[in-house]
Amino acid sequence: MAFKPNRLNSVVDEMNTCTACATCLVTCDVFQVLQWDSSSPRGRVQLAYGLYTGEIEPDNSVLTRIYQCTKCGRSEQECPSSVKLLDIFEAARHDLFEAGYRLENYERFRNKILTEGNPYDGEEPRWKVFGREPKERAEVAYFMGCKIAFQEQEMGRATIGLLEHLGVDYTLLDETCCGAPLVNAGVSDEEIEKIARRNVEEIAKRGVKTVIFSCPSCMISFKDLYSQFMDLPFEMRHEVEFFRDYGMELKETDEKVTYHDPCHLGRHYGIYDEPRELIARVPGIDFEEMENSREKALCCGAGGSMKLADKDLGVKIGRIRMEEAGERTVITACPNCKNNLAISGRVKSVSELLYENLKK
Ligand code: SF4
Ligand code: SF4
Repeated sequence: MAFKPNRLNSVVDEMNTCTACATCLVTCDVFQVLQWDSSSPRGRVQLAYGLYTGEIEPDNSVLTRIYQCTKCGRSEQECPSSVKLLDIFEAARHDLFEAGYRLENYERFRNKILTEGNPYDGEEPRWKVFGREPKERAEVAYFMGCKIAFQEQEMGRATIGLLEHLGVDYTLLDETCCGAPLVNAGVSDEEIEKIARRNVEEIAKRGVKTVIFSCPSCMISFKDLYSQFMDLPFEMRHEVEFFRDYGMELKETDEKVTYHDPCHLGRHYGIYDEPRELIARVPGIDFEEMENSREKALCCGAGGSMKLADKDLGVKIGRIRMEEAGERTVITACPNCKNNLAISGRVKSVSELLYENLKK
């Protein structure tokens, strides 16, 4: 199998912009755990460049390093030379995957998503889990995503509970995986576009005006990727943006909490205030920020489908984040963050916090 650069050709200038200054070693959670230069952002750039020139063979050790990245975006945010690191890493993943250099877990996910519509164990259609059949027409659609449907159902129940309590005219969907794990694997746009069309048609036929997401990665798929393929005839909002517009009567609690910023919600979309405003509405709640919050937040360890390449690494990064929270319950706004952080401590979503404290 010969490796030929394709998308990497379009990021050569970016790769050459890296001055190897090492700033990104300090800011990368992956490097902080593994401590090998090849596991740092600049090391990954050098590997990608070596793949591009043909000086580096894409063996399994190189593949693993390329995929040992949560796509948290912190290195790109802090890079003094403004290197578009995520574009480089995505190009490398794409070219490797398309050339047939595939880590087994990504190949398995890709095949399962394309044949069954989701990467996890569980039966479709997924709305059955929540016992609510999609309506023919509704103002609002809740795109739950695979993680909610098959692994974090309590979070989905809270969102649905809030929608119903607030009297929102909403519907669940006969949805399929948004395609984020395919992007993370490096699958071609052509395969992802089919998924995009299926999901968008499913929503559009119900006359939906607003789609809400619990999962920031699903929202990225729609807003940033699907929109490259077609016009989307609805607005898209994360649930914390949506629920902020509604008044709720909430019970008093003395729970000690903190908030973990999901990278794909905070750093990617700048949604920092909305979840904090919702948490602050709970009377009596004892809220304290972690040392690293908002733009400086550490990653949960689960982004970029990195755990498919190195599960232990993802869990270790999550543990470091949870140690920062101490005894406080960690509130977050992403099912992937919740899922990985909960391995090391007590975590709930903003929607769960609100729902359990609703005066019903
Ligand atoms: S911070 Fe930017 S310029 Fe410096 S080594 Fe990292 S990627 Fe290269
Ligand atoms: S995106 Fe995050 S995990 Fe990936 S190299 Fe940058 S800081 Fe490290």
